[in-house]
Amino acid sequence: MRILIVEDEITLNRTLAEGLKEFGYQSDIAENLKDALYYLDIRNYDLILVDWMLPDGSGLEIVTQVKEANPKTVVIVLSARDDKDSEIEAFKAGADDYIKKPFDFDVLVARLEARLRFGGSSIIEVEDLIINPEEEKIIYKDREVELKGKPFEVLTHLARHRDQIVSKEQLLDAIWEEPELVTPNVIEVAINQIRQKLDKPLGITTVETVRRRGYRFCFPKGA
Ligand code: CA
Repeated sequence: MRILIVEDEITLNRTLAEGLKEFGYQSDIAENLKDALYYLDIRNYDLILVDWMLPDGSGLEIVTQVKEANPKTVVIVLSARDDKDSEIEAFKAGADDYIKKPFDFDVLVARLEARLRFGGSSIIEVEDLIINPEEEKIIYKDREVELKGKPFEVLTHLARHRDQIVSKEQLLDAIWEEPELVTPNVIEVAINQIRQKLDKPLGITTVETVRRRGYRFCFPKGA
């Protein structure tokens, strides 16, 4: 999961990025329109938090642009404007949500999780397989599996997007801090670890390779 924060108040954007990191979200910070457009050009985002008033223009420009390029990306506008006309204008520009400043951080997280449809528990349970992202723990038939770090995060991401083919690029953007600084074979390494440490010892298949397109969570296979 990757989030772009476009906010020129430095204390606020740092607090947001650090807080979101604790919830397992990677985020990038842009302090103006120009930097935001740069990030949007090089990385894929699941969600964008954008402040309306930016030093070099209106955050609503980003809303319009993102929605034209990728309507599925969730865009939440943050603003100190508390009149209803402003709120309506933001929604008309394409915003998915509008949060007035000052806001409570827990409420912000709850709203963005609702937007991303991961409300409630983050534990993933598929038949006898339980993935607990908060504790970085995998349990299969009451047995704990030693899979940690990036391979764990790759498995969790795929399991959250089951029934979808996830490309290497999307995995890099969602999980690696500086996705353009690593080669896509780090994904192959992570997938290999999943197969060696989880699938093989347990005699199950959790991830399948879809040629030239990426990977798919496929447990329980054939079900
Ligand atoms: Ca501002």
